[in-house]
Amino acid sequence: MDASDPLARLRQGFLLAEGEVYLDGNSLGVASAAALDALRIGAREEWSQGLIRSWNTAGWFDLPVELGDAIGRLVGAAQGQVVVSDTTSINIYKALHAAIGLRPGRKVIVAEAGSFPTDLYIAEGVISTLPGVTMRLEGRDADRIEDLLDDDVAAVLVNHVNYKTGALRDMAELTRAIHGVGALAVWDLCHSAGALPITLDEANADFAVGCTYKYLNGGPGSPAFIYVASRHLDKAQQPLSGWWGHARPFAFETGYQGDPGIRRFQCGTQPVLSLRALKGALSVWDDVDMGQLRAKSIALTELFIQLVEEKCTGHGLVLESPRDPARRGSQVAFGHEHAYEIVQALIERGVIGDFRAPHTLRFGFTPLYLSHADVARAVQVLADVLESGLWREPRFAVRGAVT
Ligand SMILES: *Cc1c(COP(=O)(O)O)cnc(C)c1O
Repeated sequence: MDASDPLARLRQGFLLAEGEVYLDGNSLGVASAAALDALRIGAREEWSQGLIRSWNTAGWFDLPVELGDAIGRLVGAAQGQVVVSDTTSINIYKALHAAIGLRPGRKVIVAEAGSFPTDLYIAEGVISTLPGVTMRLEGRDADRIEDLLDDDVAAVLVNHVNYKTGALRDMAELTRAIHGVGALAVWDLCHSAGALPITLDEANADFAVGCTYKYLNGGPGSPAFIYVASRHLDKAQQPLSGWWGHARPFAFETGYQGDPGIRRFQCGTQPVLSLRALKGALSVWDDVDMGQLRAKSIALTELFIQLVEEKCTGHGLVLESPRDPARRGSQVAFGHEHAYEIVQALIERGVIGDFRAPHTLRFGFTPLYLSHADVARAVQVLADVLESGLWREPRFAVRGAVT
């Protein structure tokens, strides 16, 4: 399978540790040589030598929109609708607030009880500034988002791929249902951007946000992105009205007047070194075919599930991800009562996955740098850890601050 993999050539561009299998690219992507080169140039030349001039001469000021357009190509957004800025959490705040502002008189946000928690925490924060607005949750107030939709709903905040189970939503179909009641769709792409083909424009999405440090490999804490469909750009109000979103930031005017385009969704000065690393990381995508990426992602996750079911039977692992690959992102989750300890033992044995409370073992499969041989090796180690009972050793039960 590796011999006939059209993406196999990309692996050499990444700094993978010898003897390790990295299945956590859905939490922190691997460094590429291109990202590190860009970071070094940004630090040694542009910062150290160019200093303040680099805002103009090295194009620092325009990086957020330049990289926004580069990400736009990966998520099916035409130019001028994506900007790289701030964190995903902050961008959820901007997008959700803006969406509600576009639907005056409507008082309900719909979200998912099983959402990545920051999305819900931020929604609570948005609600705290808007008297009368309330939240309905899929998984608490009804089984399906579709059953929560009516003409009180202003906006639906929904994850494209669930962070824990990897369940993938049909973006076009759900967006259609949301628009059917006159509400707006805010898509969180953290676990799909760079993992599978996305068609924001074609699906008529209204807003979207996403990470760059997961499947886009921008580096720890690299800034997030926000998409605003061009049809909303003239009316959508950005609540964090900082100077980088001003139409003329260097006129230093007293009052706020937002930039007419996507720049308005910036707030303040951006982390330039992280943006420089991200620019390098995104260059890796120049000749990646998203259809091939998806095909490889499915092959990797299918192989993993098949091998785990073959080689790890009788140890109590329960598949938590959809079995149908068409309904799954690029990750696989298994439930186990001792998920935490098993993941720690795997890490010690060089297979890096992660644990998600309360009892999920989560494995991310980044098609850019993983091989099918990696998958086979990971399952071999997992079978070994379960068979030998290695995970029962007390040191694996000690918990760090970040799991
Ligand atoms: C990773 C992730 C985030 C992270 O938000 P930050 O503000 O970057 O910490 C948000 N939402 C989802 C769904 C995620 O998977």
